[in-house]
Parts: sequence; C-alpha cells; structure tokens
Amino acid sequence: MYEFAVTPAVTQLRRPGVIITEVARGSLGEELELEPNDRIVKVNGRPVRDYLDFRFQTAGETELVFQVKKANGETHEIEFDRDESEDLGLMFEQIVPRQCANECLFCFCKGNPDDARPSLFVRDEDIRLSFLYGNYTTLSSITEDEMKRIIEQRLSPQYVSVHATDLKTRAYLLGVDEARADISQKLERLLAADIEIHAQIVLCPEINDGTILEQTLRDLAAHYPKIVSTAIVPVALTRYNTDERLSRVTPEFCRRTITQVENLQDEFRTTLGVTFAFLGDEIYLKAGAEIPTREHYGNYPQIEDGVGMIRSFLEQFQTVFDSAATKDRRTEAVDLARQFFKNVRTRPEARVPARLEGATTTLDFPSGRLFGTILTGEMFAPILTEQIERFNRMSGSALTVVAVPNTYFGGDVSVAGLLSGRDLLAVSGSVVGDFVIIPRVTIKSDEPIFIDGMSYEEVKSGFPVPVFDLDTDGLIKLLQN
Ligand code: SF4
Repeated sequence: MYEFAVTPAVTQLRRPGVIITEVARGSLGEELELEPNDRIVKVNGRPVRDYLDFRFQTAGETELVFQVKKANGETHEIEFDRDESEDLGLMFEQIVPRQCANECLFCFCKGNPDDARPSLFVRDEDIRLSFLYGNYTTLSSITEDEMKRIIEQRLSPQYVSVHATDLKTRAYLLGVDEARADISQKLERLLAADIEIHAQIVLCPEINDGTILEQTLRDLAAHYPKIVSTAIVPVALTRYNTDERLSRVTPEFCRRTITQVENLQDEFRTTLGVTFAFLGDEIYLKAGAEIPTREHYGNYPQIEDGVGMIRSFLEQFQTVFDSAATKDRRTEAVDLARQFFKNVRTRPEARVPARLEGATTTLDFPSGRLFGTILTGEMFAPILTEQIERFNRMSGSALTVVAVPNTYFGGDVSVAGLLSGRDLLAVSGSVVGDFVIIPRVTIKSDEPIFIDGMSYEEVKSGFPVPVFDLDTDGLIKLLQN
C-alpha cells in the first residue's frame, strides 16, 4: 500500500529539473527564449528539483547560467546577467506532494466516502508544502536530504503534527513503531538551526487528552519561542470512521478541555508572555463557551487550522457596523449642513449599484437593502445568524442564514468547507429572496467542482435563484456596500 503511495512521489522528487508552465510577455524569460515545457535542470551548476530549489538558487544572483532541457530532449546552456530585482517572468509546475508512511488512527482519508474527489485520498506529508502552505507533517519519515534542505534553504516555519510527546501515545496514534514515531532528535536539530515550528495536536478523547495533553503542552512550551505556537484541534470523525479505538468529541469533553487548557494558557501568558497553546474554534462552539478575545490569539498564528477564525470573522464583521456608523455620522453632518444652507438646492444622491460576482454570474443590486439567503455549515450557522440579524436590523435587509447539514460525511463534520454539492442542493427548498450565497471554500480552488465531484453548474441549476460563491472578505464587502 505504501509502495503505491510513495513511488510516484519519489519518482517526482528525483526527476531532474523543474518544468516551465508559462513565460510572461515582455519578460526576461521571453528574451532568453525560454518556453513552456522547457525544463530547467541546473542553475549555476547546481541541480534543481522543483521551483523552491529554483527560487533558492536564483535569489539575489545577478550572474546566472541555466542548463535547460527542451521538450525535444535537446539540452543547452543559457548564460546571462540581470539586475538584482529583475524578475524572470516564469511560472512553474506545481510541487507533487511526497506522501506519508503513517497509518494514523484518525486519518482523514479513512473518513472519506468512496466517491470523494481523488485528491482527498492524497496523504501528503511534505516539508515543502509545510513551508509554503502551512500543511502539517509528522516528520516521522523525513529523509536526511529533507532535513538538510529545511536547514540550508531556511524553509521556516515548519508545521508539525506532534499529537503527544509521550512516545508510546504518539506511536499508537500514528500507527507506527516507536523508533519511527520518535522525532525528538529531529526537532532538536531543526530548533538548533533556528527553524521555527508551529505544532499541532489532534485531540482524541481517552488517548492524548488529560495528563498526556498537559505534558505535551509543557514539553513544547519549554522550546518557546522556537516552537512558536501549538494548535489543539478536536478529532473529527465522519460516519465512515468506524475504528473502535476512537471516541467522539462531546460537549462535556470540550468543556473539560477548555478548563484544563485555560489554566495552562494563564501560566504560559505569565511565564512566556503569550497564550502559546490555542484551542480550535470547534471546541468552544461544541462546549457552548465564549470565543476568546482578539488579544488571546495574538497574530493568529494557526488561523488556517481553524484556530481563531471565528474571532477574526467577528472582528471583520464589526467593520460592517463601524463603517455604517461612520456613514451615519457623515449623513448627520450632511443633514446639518443642508439645514444650515436651506436655500441651497442639493442633488439627490446617486444610487451606486453593489456588484455581486459568482464564478460565472454577475448580479447588480441597488445599494442598501439585501434580500437573499446565505448557506453555511451547521457549526458556524449560529454565529453567522447572530451577526446577520444585527445587520438586518441596521440596514433594513432581509438576509436569512440556513445551516446546511453535512450528510455526505455525516458524523461530527459540520464545517462549511466540507459541504458537498448534494448537501447544498438538499436545502434548496429553504432558500428565500433574490439570490443565494454559498461558501466559496466548498468549491475546489482550481476547478469548479464540489467535494463530491458535482459541478458548480449542476448545483446552480438546482436552485430557483442565482447562486454566488463568496469568501468572508467577499461577504463583508457586499454588506458594506
Ligand atoms: S500523517 Fe496525515 S495523511 Fe498520513 S496517515 Fe496520518 S493523518 Fe493520514
């Protein structure tokens, strides 16, 4: 099974060079007669494995020699000078992720329905993607070359799934032997080389909670500031996770965890000056507890892991109310001025259309009142509903939030990002108003399809009104209009 998973990745890693996919018009790359499908094999005599290598080996270099392999197999060298800040105008092929050699109890791949998008079955464990996109790796199968590469190319920070510093527990969770699970020396080596680490703990009731959790947090905090932060996120089990060793995260479990971690957070704030250990938003929501303040999250070091997203959303949403208040003050000032200059005729204010853009549709609204439906996951729906109701009262709009149950994955899955096309269509009968907004995160970033493979067009055609996909920024912008 691992052979199948690992072989393509290793082949990709060893394939010499990186392929150019685009050359910008008028760029230095075009002047050098570089073309799509050319493969840059070496830069200044050093082999190139991917675009990170290319970036590293060209950074700051003004005298360059590229060894280029053309699509027809011919190889030639290009020698040139450039200004330090001059961009080559080249785009490269994506990095093909290296895959893991673990068998984690809670692996998301085991929770996928059989017909999920193939990319959801990719068990990526790649230090390059960790550096570029914040993907977590366990470091359990990292090679010596990769260790050297992190240090030499300063691929910092790295995001590491630690789960537990107790070796037996970590090995049990990763489904590997203790020798492989033991990353203490690797971590020490990275930290000694000043590579920053953001750690993650996937919290599994009765496995790595309680005293194991406390010990893990203390062990990690001992390396602050090189270990910058730790995210504690609850294990999410779909209806396909049937492993009896795993228990579901309950509201009571979340309340206990909050109490336990709050004590440690207080201690870390006193000793380290930062919260250091952050609980995932889902834990607060499940517990029915208040979301911590803006200050709690500092600079939101693990927001991509669902830690602080809700606080950040509430902060962004507040700007809608603040800008409305500013507009009101402006309107009051204008009214006063008009009263003062009663005899001066004023032009009626122009109604500026607000523009809402979906992937393929555009709809113009008069500014002001909005009448439509916003779909989101069950977890976030109560928070969004509260804010939207406040917005409706303020603006006279009639927006409705509909919580969409996730029947595709089932189980504990209630986040918006994992809603399928079928889940969205299942609530089409609840839509009211002139339009429906769906979370943009439900659509694959490079292709208009949903997690279940349903196309965006198919979903759109199932709704009685136009469908628009917005991210948080887009939604805030719409409301501010
Ligand atoms: S490391 Fe990640 S991808 Fe690999 S088995 Fe564990 S959870 Fe799955």
